Amino acid sequence: GYRSRAAYKLLEIQEKDRLIRPGMRVLDVGAAPGGWTQVAAPLIGRNGRLVAVDRLAMDPVADATVICGDVYEDAVIAACREALPEGVDLIMSDMAPNMSGIASVDQARAIDLAELALDMAQRWLRPGGSLLIKVFMGTGAEELRRALRKDFKKIVVRKPEASRARSTEQYWLALDFQGVAQERLD
Ligand code: SAM
Repeated sequence: GYRSRAAYKLLEIQEKDRLIRPGMRVLDVGAAPGGWTQVAAPLIGRNGRLVAVDRLAMDPVADATVICGDVYEDAVIAACREALPEGVDLIMSDMAPNMSGIASVDQARAIDLAELALDMAQRWLRPGGSLLIKVFMGTGAEELRRALRKDFKKIVVRKPEASRARSTEQYWLALDFQGVAQERLD
């Protein structure tokens, strides 16, 4: 079984879009408790690389490297980068903030996390790479979409059955990275 219901959202996206393939280098951001990591690891296989990061501790997953830390910390970003020395084909972020209950604050935090994932993509993605991000619809989402359009050829919106209850949550899959990664990973 999977550690989280979130696993079923990724399975549904995978079924439709086949975004995870053998041999890929994948960064799973906001990975705890590890449902997405459990889904991705066997799809990637031993010839690829899977790095999962979360500020919460998480049990190990076979064939994945787990990093515990907050992605707002430079040292954690550096650790992610070092764990993926050959570059990144896919960044997937299911990050969500701790909800304060103040809608405007929560929305701003959620968009900020999505922007942070985009920032990692702009720094590390290989040409043609992909970014999957959880987006809460509301203030800032349209601006985020404009930013994605600059660097990716195609953006598709996914609303998995498993996330129907959360009305404002969507997953955006940005495909075919056109930008030039700001940091070369050799
Ligand atoms: N995809 C996961 C799964 O399948 O099990 C579920 C992820 S859960 C919806 C969102 C996660 O984002 C939480 O575990 C939370 O700790 C993490 N998160 C939020 N902000 C973070 C940050 N600044 N740094 C690292 N992780 C963060």
